[in-house]
Amino acid sequence: MGISITVLTLFPELIENYIAFGVIGRASKNNVASVSAVDIRDFTEDKHRTVDDVPFGGGAGMVLKAEPLAKAMESVGATGHRVLLSPSGRPFTQADAIRWSSLDALTLVCGRYEGVDERFRQQYVDDVVSIGDYVLSGGELGALVVLDATLRFVPGVLGNRESLEQESFSDGLLEHPQYTRPASWRGWDVPEVLLSGHHQNIAQWRREASVNRTALHRPDLLDKAALTAAERDRIGVRTKRGS
Ligand code: SAH
Repeated sequence: MGISITVLTLFPELIENYIAFGVIGRASKNNVASVSAVDIRDFTEDKHRTVDDVPFGGGAGMVLKAEPLAKAMESVGATGHRVLLSPSGRPFTQADAIRWSSLDALTLVCGRYEGVDERFRQQYVDDVVSIGDYVLSGGELGALVVLDATLRFVPGVLGNRESLEQESFSDGLLEHPQYTRPASWRGWDVPEVLLSGHHQNIAQWRREASVNRTALHRPDLLDKAALTAAERDRIGVRTKRGS
């Protein structure tokens, strides 16, 4: 059995539904990875099973109480990496997914309402990540993003390892455009070179398309991307040395 991922959430069914399908569902079925959801509400002790309370200092909304979160975390055990999803965390990236894919255990904590009590965040998690610059109503989508991106790097989860290597971000660039049959669709044709069978020309076309696409949509990535001097010239990016 490979990595074991546990998600602490108030809505375990959101997680369970997603992980039943596609490559993640197959990975669980084949015992390549195990993913489970733990209901934070199961760790309350009062009659109303209260998980939230008003914020100290006033203001709108409710805050997730530290105690049920801590008990839920303790029920998982202290092994592995513990990550809280929050818009106030650092950005989650492909590099995290690669690193975390070789862990034995990963625990993801989903906030709700206005978020979690800061003392839980300080004492019970190793890392806080955001999936983007927008605010969602709960951490579940974030946990699913993190676990999906991470599991794709666990050996045996994807059929074809090669498809990982050519993807967006793998070399610091966005992926080139993809086409499938038919070669002519509603009068729009696939670029000729892709039909040529000439591997070197195809590789060159893809590389160029990948560089162009990155320059257009994500110029912020170019600084760190491994570009040749000729490529930098072609798209007019100045190198770090300032040429
Ligand atoms: N008041 C908080 C937002 C709470 S949103 C703030 O301004 O920072 C409620 C929960 O949704 C959060 O606890 C977090 O778990 C999740 N969430 C919302 N946006 C997110 C994002 N961009 N990335 C990761 N998790 C997010």
